[in-house]
Amino acid sequence: MPELLKTDNSNAVLDQVSQIPPSKFKLLSNDDLDKLQEFLQSGIGTEENPQQYQRQLKSLPLFQTVQGERKCIEGHNSVFILKTECSGKFPDLFSINADGNIFLKYNLVNTHLSENMDISILTELGFYVKFLLPSLHTLTEAQVLDSIRLLLVLRKDPTYKEYHDKIVAKLRTVKFIRDIRGTLQLTSYFFDEKEPLYKIMLPLVKFVPPTFWKLFEQKKKSAVSRLLKDLGMKHTVSDEEIIEFALTIQSEAQGKTSVEELRRKSSALFKKAVEYNVTNIDSNLLNRIATIKFVFPVRIQKDLCDYHQPLVGERDLVGIKGSLIEENSDHQYLIWSSMPILPADSLPQSHLEHLKKAGAFHQPPCDLVAQNLKNICQSGCANHYLRNIRKTAFCKSYAYLQSKHFSASLLQDLPVVLVENDAALVQASQAVLILDDYKEFRPYLYRISPRHALYAEFFKRIGVEERPTIRQYSVVLKDIFMDSKRKETLNANQQLTMKRSVQHLFQLMKDQPQQIQFQETLYLPSADGKLYKSNDLYFNDTVFQKKRLEDSLKDKISLLMNLGHCHLGRDMYKHQKLLKLLPEPIRPTMLSHVTTKRLARSRMKSCEYGESCEFSGSFREKLSFGPFLHGLTCLIRQQSEGTMSHDHAVELCQNTFGRLKITCCESLETELFFGDEPLANTASETQVHVKKETQGFTFYLKHSDDIASKVIHKVTTLLTKEMNFLLGNILCPDHLNTLGQLLLCDTQEDIEKTLEEYGIHYSANKEEGHHHLDPGSPIPEEWYDALDMNFMNNYEGGEYVGFKKISEDELYYYAVIVERLDVSSEGQYCCKYKIQIGTNEFVEVSSLDLYQFKRKKTSASKQNHGREILLVDGPVPPPKKDFPKTFKEIKREIDDCLKEICTLSKDEQKKALRRLYLRWHPDKNPEQEELANEAFKYLKNKFKEFEQNGGPGQSSSSKNYRGQNKSGQSSWSWNFKDFYDEWDSEATRHRQGREKFYRHNSGPHYNFSSFHQDMPRTDRAEAKRWYSQAQCDLDAAHNDTGGGSPEWCLFKVHQAVEKALMAAEYRRCGKRSPNCSISSLAQKVSCYSPELSALPGLVSRLKHLGVNAKTTQYPSYHTPPKIPNNTFQPENETEVLDIASELLQKVDTFITN
Ligand SMILES: [Zn+2]
Repeated sequence: MPELLKTDNSNAVLDQVSQIPPSKFKLLSNDDLDKLQEFLQSGIGTEENPQQYQRQLKSLPLFQTVQGERKCIEGHNSVFILKTECSGKFPDLFSINADGNIFLKYNLVNTHLSENMDISILTELGFYVKFLLPSLHTLTEAQVLDSIRLLLVLRKDPTYKEYHDKIVAKLRTVKFIRDIRGTLQLTSYFFDEKEPLYKIMLPLVKFVPPTFWKLFEQKKKSAVSRLLKDLGMKHTVSDEEIIEFALTIQSEAQGKTSVEELRRKSSALFKKAVEYNVTNIDSNLLNRIATIKFVFPVRIQKDLCDYHQPLVGERDLVGIKGSLIEENSDHQYLIWSSMPILPADSLPQSHLEHLKKAGAFHQPPCDLVAQNLKNICQSGCANHYLRNIRKTAFCKSYAYLQSKHFSASLLQDLPVVLVENDAALVQASQAVLILDDYKEFRPYLYRISPRHALYAEFFKRIGVEERPTIRQYSVVLKDIFMDSKRKETLNANQQLTMKRSVQHLFQLMKDQPQQIQFQETLYLPSADGKLYKSNDLYFNDTVFQKKRLEDSLKDKISLLMNLGHCHLGRDMYKHQKLLKLLPEPIRPTMLSHVTTKRLARSRMKSCEYGESCEFSGSFREKLSFGPFLHGLTCLIRQQSEGTMSHDHAVELCQNTFGRLKITCCESLETELFFGDEPLANTASETQVHVKKETQGFTFYLKHSDDIASKVIHKVTTLLTKEMNFLLGNILCPDHLNTLGQLLLCDTQEDIEKTLEEYGIHYSANKEEGHHHLDPGSPIPEEWYDALDMNFMNNYEGGEYVGFKKISEDELYYYAVIVERLDVSSEGQYCCKYKIQIGTNEFVEVSSLDLYQFKRKKTSASKQNHGREILLVDGPVPPPKKDFPKTFKEIKREIDDCLKEICTLSKDEQKKALRRLYLRWHPDKNPEQEELANEAFKYLKNKFKEFEQNGGPGQSSSSKNYRGQNKSGQSSWSWNFKDFYDEWDSEATRHRQGREKFYRHNSGPHYNFSSFHQDMPRTDRAEAKRWYSQAQCDLDAAHNDTGGGSPEWCLFKVHQAVEKALMAAEYRRCGKRSPNCSISSLAQKVSCYSPELSALPGLVSRLKHLGVNAKTTQYPSYHTPPKIPNNTFQPENETEVLDIASELLQKVDTFITN
């Protein structure tokens, strides 16, 4: 056939070929068809009618499709040449009916066709996007899977990126993965199993099952996985997921999920969460889940759990916030019961910071450490194992808290202090760091072991004291009291503790008085060994004999235990001082405040001598003795070191002793009173007792006839003590002793000497009344009443008297008697005396112008030998009677006086009558008011008689009177009325003067001579008496000569000489110096008169010859074997007696002058 055709004309060929039925084309081989097609399409561009040509060509079933079929390309929407390599692999995909389009195989001839006929060449990717993708939903599952596989290939196409989004968007809407249950799911349904958290958290169904993976070649798997991720498979954990997981875990923990499972999840999630926060810096994920309980805390070590249950149980989960990051395994010890610990041991530091920001702690907070202590301190500790754990936990807590600032209130009142070798826990208030005798304080107060000293700072901060406080000791005592309340006695341990507590309490008060403060009731031990409220107890601070007082008080009160039993020494004064440290309201009562010694009145019996008792009289006299009171004043001033003024001291003395009474008792007993209740069997004899009366004091003295020095000394000592008591105990013992010595002094000089010896300043400020004793000075009015109106007195040389000048009616002056001028005169009623009335002024006056100072019957001359004075006789007048005892005697005295007055001159009569009038005036005799009134009445009647008769005894002459101005005429009429007023007012003035004296002066006596004790005064009578005895002693010495007892002769001579010298002293000044040696006495006496000047020489010779009171009596003065008897020479006896006689002779001459 080719020969028949014009083969180079394609138009002609085409026309020919178009005539051939399509089925005949199948008979041609591929090559032939290709050649034909090549030929025909080469004719394009050369034909006459291109449109005709192309249409004819297209309608030929000449073109090979992708599937290898020959089809015409006319009648299709579009014609593509598909450049594919995979069409063979996925024939289904490429044979889909794509809306009437035809896809020609990509080969050389078709490529030419494309060039000639402008047919576009399509890539596989292009095909995929353009045709496959839109119809994806219509594909079968297998086709879809193929399309995925295809896609995996196409992804390598360099232009893939352009289509990626479009492809992915479409694929996401297609379910092509079956889950394990066989249900088709979108890719976004699944989670990437490569993410461990998902793997752990999610059920299997949520993962792409293995069956799916098997659909792909092994080497494609990662590509598939990548694709799935693109398609929405979740592969990155989000914070929302984490939160959700956390919540899931939290709720699962409440359910039945196994602990292992929970633990696995929790651990993974926790790790993820922390990491997440690190990689997502801006995330606040951790904060958001911090409160969700999804973390399994660190397991607490076993020993701690054994000791106390941990805060979190087996299944309990915790949140991050408020938990501890485990940085130090030791921290478990601090908070295991109060705080969970996060398992953070493997986390890097940066992660920990995030946890901290989310509210976790990396150091245990102090309050929770305290809480832990609080939780565990109550746990029992039954064995050593637990005890050890406890010790470790506590010590670690101490150390930790010590290094932090923590508030002590966290541990207030908790027993967190280890004591007793770590066997016990106590509160801070029950322990101290340093405690002496600590063993004796258990179990009331503990010492913290020195091993724990390194925690001292901690202990101090929670309130442990370094040393116990007063309060702690009080609490110990209170505790013991409570513990023993219902018991009869304290047990032995309680006693030890009690005694130690009392000791330490008082020592502390003594050492730190500023700390003394008691909030608690204080309990102190009583003598019965039990504890009582301190202010219910009594302390025996009295001086009463223990037995006398305490026995009788036994059932009435509880006495404080002797503090000596509480290690506080035996010194009662110290005890008293310690007790005084206690505040008043809680101080035991001092027994001295509630017990008194009072007079046992029922047993008291007055002294039979009454007012005239010499024993008590001598003390009465001493206590009102002016110089003595002055000495006491000096003593008080010395004691006050001059801070007390003289006037004040005088006032004190006067207030104290001014109203002093002395009562002498035959028997004197005191008994003790508790309050106002007498105590049975406490009566006891006493020597001196002082009682305060409403006005002043009464000294009760037990009468003694014995004037032995021991009795005097004892009474004196007691007196000084009582006096000091009355003075408010202002004198110290030394001065008290001095006071005793002053009480023994008889003279002003003695007092002064004693003060000097004891180093007491003699205060020069003398009392009133000691001044102006100079002759001629006026006598103070207060002494007027002491002037004796009686004019029948004897005056001795040197005696102070009152003197009234005739010219001045109202004033009296001091005068000193020089001598009597008319010694030989028979009449005694009016005689002349020479008196001194100024330094060098002497006058001669009538005895009617002189007034003797009235003396009470006790006088200085009989202080210690009062009774003997009754024996006095001799030329001196008997001591005056103050006042006659009966009216009869009075009448006789008045009558006698008036009789005598008649013999006087008129002037003298007037003086005498005035004196008589005043003598009996009631104002001057207040103590004998009744008798005085009667006497006065009688006297006035007598005066009246005289007035009427013109004078007494007209008949009797005055021839006996030797006065110079004698006048017999009746120029002076007996009219007294003019004088009565004047005399009455004088009497009143005298009385007022005396009353003034009593107001201002101490002592009961209105006695000029004892008041002015220092005033020199002679006492002839006493001188005589002493001399008489001296003479007797000398006679006795004579009798001892030649008898082989020379020592007795010498002794008696000593006695004689001593008494003779004292007689001279009496003659001179009315007193003697006790306790002086004969040498010093002789020295003193030798000054009295020129005839006595030889005395010291005589005494010296006597002493040389052995005259001595001691050596002649006591062997102790001689070297053994000598005794006094064989020491002295009998040959000296005569000489000694001669000298003594000479001495006595000289004294005799002196005293009789
Ligand atoms: Zn008496």
